[in-house]
Amino acid sequence: MKKYGINTIAVQAGWDPKNGESRNTPIVQSTTFKYETSEAMGDLFDLKTSGYFYTRLANPTNDCAAKRICDMEGGVGAMLTSSGQAANFFAVFNICEAGDHFIASSAIYGGTFNLFVWTMKKMGIECTIVDPEISYEELCSKFKPNTKCVFGETIANPALVVLDFDKFVKAAHEHGVPMIVDNTFATPVNCRPFEFGVDIVTHSTTKYIDGHGVAVGGCIVDSGNFEWSKYADKFPGLCTPDESYHGLTYTESFGKAAYITKCTTHLMRDLGSIQSPQNAFYINMSLESLPLRMEKHCSNALEIAKWLSKNPKVAWVRYPGLEGDKYYDLAKKYMPNGTCGVISFGMKGGRDASAEVMNHLQLACIVTHVADARTCVLHPASHTHRQMNDAQLAEAGILPELIRLSVGLENPEDIIADLEQAIDKVN
Ligand SMILES: *Cc1c(COP(=O)(O)O)cnc(C)c1O
Repeated sequence: MKKYGINTIAVQAGWDPKNGESRNTPIVQSTTFKYETSEAMGDLFDLKTSGYFYTRLANPTNDCAAKRICDMEGGVGAMLTSSGQAANFFAVFNICEAGDHFIASSAIYGGTFNLFVWTMKKMGIECTIVDPEISYEELCSKFKPNTKCVFGETIANPALVVLDFDKFVKAAHEHGVPMIVDNTFATPVNCRPFEFGVDIVTHSTTKYIDGHGVAVGGCIVDSGNFEWSKYADKFPGLCTPDESYHGLTYTESFGKAAYITKCTTHLMRDLGSIQSPQNAFYINMSLESLPLRMEKHCSNALEIAKWLSKNPKVAWVRYPGLEGDKYYDLAKKYMPNGTCGVISFGMKGGRDASAEVMNHLQLACIVTHVADARTCVLHPASHTHRQMNDAQLAEAGILPELIRLSVGLENPEDIIADLEQAIDKVN
């Protein structure tokens, strides 16, 4: 089949109506699906045939949105989850069990950090957190015989550290494990991690993919490239018979789609966390404008980052798309067309001055959200990352005065005017 461009995929993929069917993907608001014979339904349970039977396992509206994200990323299969948290949990838990270990960059979302370091520890899974600046040799020294994957974020929320794909992917593959990347901030419009050797991609679709602040959701995409059977002893869940599925072996029955099939038929079956068809409908519609929106988020953010960096009361500005930024070169290498709409900056007056600026903003509002059509701000040290102590904050690249500014789709001069009046009020 012809390989279409990202704009075409964004509006066309996932739904191919036949004669007289709805042009738009319908919201299939049904928990269940009808079959004519008992045998037909039985075959579905044995995974002998595929078809819809219960929405926790598959639903046409969800499948459409998942297929669209999958095609945009260039994967072989994808699954929607109820949230980004569920996506990251499932992505790791699909190949890690009690007694296993994995490695994650410290520059990750606060919720993911808590999940990996605290909650998964209670399940007997140990996570080693590494500085994203770690040398290749040192990174290699963190692997153990029971290490099952490496995890990072394309552009870290909120530290805006750009992941050095080459270094992390090489280390993961050298040790026979997959690289999992949370691509939420870059979106498949600006970065397709599979092109750089990443094996599994996750998303909080709550962010740019939705982009309008209406639906919490997540997604996991499988590149189909990792050779599980080559390291069969490391991944028994994929390479040995699954007793809960009549002895079926995922790698044998599903080939390249082994990982993502297990994710659905095993984890979603047992743990739930499905996205509602209504939410899938929203993100499906939002995906259609994602390429256009990302372009505007990025051009607005660059203009505002430039303006902030010239303001005498602003101590520092971080934006990977801004020339001179520590991650500018990595961003250009992996995201030549743009990064994201999120900027971070700190006031010279420190933590208090930053908090005060936020209180004076009128157009940009304080919300626990990011990547929205409307400009918004957050103070990670007192909001999303408040569970972390100062050392952990520093490790995650978060200074106490850091304001996370998520630039929306407004006129850039209006956002600048709002920032200007707020900063003017602070000493
Ligand atoms: C928000 C976010 C998450 C968590 O997603 P939810 O949809 O809020 O559960 C995970 N990763 C990144 C990078 C995020 O920004």
